[in-house]
Amino acid sequence: MNLSIADTFTKELPADPSKENTPRQVLESCYSFVTPKIPANPSLLHVSEETAALLGISQKDTQSNDFLQVFTGAKVVEQSQPFAMCYGGHQFGNWAGQLGDGRAINLMEVLHKDQRWALQLKGAGPTPYSRRADGLAVLRSSIREHLCSEAMYHLGVPTTRSLSLCLSGDQVMRDVLYNGNPAYEKGAIVCRVAPSFIRFGNFQIFASRNDTANLKRLTDYTIRHFFPHITTCDKEGYIQFFKEVVQRSVEMVIHWQRVGFVHGVMNTDNMSILGLTIDYGPYGWLEGYDKGWTPNTTDKHQKRYRYGYQPTIVHWNLFQLANALFLLINDAPVLEKILNDLQEVFSDAYLAMMRTKLGLQTSVEADNLLIADLEDTLTLTETDMTIFFRLLATVQKDDSPKEVLQKLQTAFYKPLELIEEITEKWNAWISQYLQRLQKESASDAVRATYMNTINPKYVLRNYMAQLAIDAADNGDYTLIDELYQLLKQPYAEQPDREKWFAKRPEWARHKVGCSMLSCSS
Ligand code: AMP
Ligand code: MG
Repeated sequence: MNLSIADTFTKELPADPSKENTPRQVLESCYSFVTPKIPANPSLLHVSEETAALLGISQKDTQSNDFLQVFTGAKVVEQSQPFAMCYGGHQFGNWAGQLGDGRAINLMEVLHKDQRWALQLKGAGPTPYSRRADGLAVLRSSIREHLCSEAMYHLGVPTTRSLSLCLSGDQVMRDVLYNGNPAYEKGAIVCRVAPSFIRFGNFQIFASRNDTANLKRLTDYTIRHFFPHITTCDKEGYIQFFKEVVQRSVEMVIHWQRVGFVHGVMNTDNMSILGLTIDYGPYGWLEGYDKGWTPNTTDKHQKRYRYGYQPTIVHWNLFQLANALFLLINDAPVLEKILNDLQEVFSDAYLAMMRTKLGLQTSVEADNLLIADLEDTLTLTETDMTIFFRLLATVQKDDSPKEVLQKLQTAFYKPLELIEEITEKWNAWISQYLQRLQKESASDAVRATYMNTINPKYVLRNYMAQLAIDAADNGDYTLIDELYQLLKQPYAEQPDREKWFAKRPEWARHKVGCSMLSCSS
């Protein structure tokens, strides 16, 4: 395996002078050098061949012992200097101080085909940022991260990628529901890949310590490498930088709303500065459409990170980033204006996105109402979001409301004819939609093809990941690859895999791992 190593983060930014791998506060440094833990008995479970190709790793190389050793932390590649990043963050709305890569270890940056990639192991042992935890990860959450990052990429959602999923051979103790029932689970290690893993929290930690010099170093570095079209590192450059982070973050969350993804832990330390979905923890996918749903049991009372609130939270998080960058920009009115305009930016972006879900390529003033009515109607009785929008593409302009409702039937968890009042409401919405379609010039067939590029047929439903996890716990890893293959083409008809185009089965409704996930991972 021949990787073209081209480190910049460690070359250009200040390192923690101490190499001691014990939990502590790390000041005036962007990272600490650290060596991954040697795994007891590593084995490879799954590789994303596409992510490997991005790095110039051939299929043959992915099966080598070298690959296994490097991507489980058993071997440190010559000339590379693994490290953990220092960052802080707001967790559930409160400033939490220093957090940092507590169980992520950055291996190296690789240049391939003019693109820079940072490679990071998750679950490869403790770092100075591990606080009281072990730096390890368990198989169930690693399967979820590996599969979901690749699925999101193929859905067209900006995301970090996953190269590999390995078992460490170590046993890891976890209390899944934080209810006093700890048990051993299989330890696992994922190798994540992204242009950079810098988060909002990397900027926040310096600002919180009034360390303007290092805040500037980090910001200049980020601009130089990831926003190279911004040519000046001065007030104007930093404002431009902030605007672009705003734009990318908005785009990311609008994609989440489009596909029904709920991140679950949108703390500012889990917000990528590049607008990538990062840190797949207790995330989930909407099954029944519900703006109030969150998969994260740790957040079940407040529901801060519920589906419908994600844009508001991104706004809140951007406000925190603005607070940090203020030290460099020193112009509150300019930052306030960007943040104040954001409400409208979100509503415009959301409206535009919802139009695409409905197959509307023109804009009509009343589309807002049509969409608001739809959202209300979708929640009258449990209605599967993915199935609903996918089936909506089969509507024809001269269908009757009755025919349309017939076509949408399998999206409803209970047969609709049992509930007369709801049927009426659906008929009313469908009539509006049919009328609206008359204003569209595209043929039914053209509209359907278009909608099927926006509304996925297959997503990683919570129970699907859980089936792969249950099988893996019993030593059967085949479902991991089956789901990976399925989710490579989420918009395509895949007749052999039609069984995954189905509502959540009843057994999964209240099952741990399906509807209930905690931060324990
Ligand atoms: P998360 O909510 O998963 O994004 O994690 C929040 C913080 O806790 C981050 O700084 C993580 O690195 C750290 N963390 C989470 N799990 C562990 C673990 N098992 N060992 C060490 N640090 C952890
Ligand atoms: Mg995190």
